[in-house]
Amino acid sequence: MKKFKKVLIANRGEIAIRILRSCRELGIETVAVYSTADENSLHVKLADESVCIGPAKSALSYLNMHAILSAAEITGADAIHPGYGFLSENDEFAKLCEKCSITFIGPNIDCLQAMGDKIESKKIAKNADVPTLEPIYVNELTDEKILKAVKEMGLPVLIKASSGGGGRGMKRIDDIDKLLNTIEVLKQESQLAFGDDTLFIEKYISNPRHVEVQILADKHGKVLHLGERDCTIQRRFQKILEESPSPVISDKTREEMFEASIRLARTVKYDSVGTVEYLYDLDEAKFYFMEMNTRIQVEHPVTEQRCGIDLISEQIKVAAGEKLELEQKDIVFRGHVIECRINAEDPVTSMPSPGLITHYHRPGGIGIRVDDFIYTGYNVSPHYDSMISKIIIFADTREKCIARALRALDETVVGGLKTNIDLHRKILKNKHFAENSFNTNFLSEKC
Ligand code: ADP
Ligand code: ADP
Ligand code: MG
Repeated sequence: MKKFKKVLIANRGEIAIRILRSCRELGIETVAVYSTADENSLHVKLADESVCIGPAKSALSYLNMHAILSAAEITGADAIHPGYGFLSENDEFAKLCEKCSITFIGPNIDCLQAMGDKIESKKIAKNADVPTLEPIYVNELTDEKILKAVKEMGLPVLIKASSGGGGRGMKRIDDIDKLLNTIEVLKQESQLAFGDDTLFIEKYISNPRHVEVQILADKHGKVLHLGERDCTIQRRFQKILEESPSPVISDKTREEMFEASIRLARTVKYDSVGTVEYLYDLDEAKFYFMEMNTRIQVEHPVTEQRCGIDLISEQIKVAAGEKLELEQKDIVFRGHVIECRINAEDPVTSMPSPGLITHYHRPGGIGIRVDDFIYTGYNVSPHYDSMISKIIIFADTREKCIARALRALDETVVGGLKTNIDLHRKILKNKHFAENSFNTNFLSEKC
């Protein structure tokens, strides 16, 4: 059986450290790559070796495929872990890795291609008998036909970029007069951001929860699910706080979601960690496939804490061709888990607020895990994502988990920067959150 000797981590921040930790436990050497803005980053200090791959701008460093592959060749790495964001879902990069005989730690290229495109993946999901929302294919229709189709569908609708991600490339339409104009703007934005102007329109679900299923599969046909996560607390289509189990779905719906996800993963011969995202319509008690993320996700620790499985170790092992030793019946879920994404951002405008951390104290004690990369004296760069830490809290029940989360936030000190810690406090103290009577509009309507 092939085992990796050395893994290059093509990412930064907390996820680079998270990957490094699993590699170390597996006895694999690590190579960190970094931009000139990240010279003093912890992932560089913790890795066995490190290589500078370019200037601060992501396009020239963390997205610079040739620089990253050269770094892998120079250091003799036999695999690359892309983390999340950046090159993690880029099939062109995966192909280049293959050409260089370096393993891309992720699913096979066919999966990356099929599921990387929201329209294509919807078609596959529908064929696999997974409930989907019927799309209007914007780029294939005349303006008149689009207008007619939207009127038939009924407002509000959501315009989405087929290649979109990270909550970008989406726009809700309430007024038919704004439809065609918004399509034009979104096409341009999407072309600029994702290099593809393909859009589609689907019915906007007004009272939804976001519930997703974690998949773990190997190259030998075994597909497991590791339960669900509820990521309903969002701002501008971006997740802020996640929890598991989902406190709203019935056991029957939960089982149906697991089965649908496994069916979909089998259909595309999925062979890594991945997440199938659904909208759960609270009014109709039905779920609809949204997309599949073919990478490790930000909120994966929620699942790890609930079932005691190291997802990144498993991801690395299956990429090396190992058979999964786990069986579905061995996977048991315990208690309740909440993750708070701590961002360096202005609490009023919620715009990124980078700068020097003058003092940092992380929470601890029973039931607390912190995945972060910051330290006292660290300068949060304006060039990258504003997330600086994830606090993961686990307890026997949801109620105890909320109390523990508030306790952990009270212990947390991030001096010198503006953060969203108070926002998390507000969420966790909110009556509707405690009573679990909310949907994805919680932050704009109830908090
Ligand atoms: P991304 O690739 O940016 O993650 P998704 O398709 O997963 O895009 O959607 C992101 C979020 O947008 C979802 O979690 C959900 O809150 C909201 N959303 C997506 N589709 C719909 C819809 N049809 N109706 C209502 N909300 C939606
Ligand atoms: P998750 O579903 O793992 O929680 P998020 O949607 O929060 O993922 O995205 C994780 C990170 O990856 C964020 O920094 C986000 O900006 C980035 N990201 C996700 N999808 C894309 C994409 N298609 N293009 C660029 N960045 C992306
Ligand atoms: Mg999504």
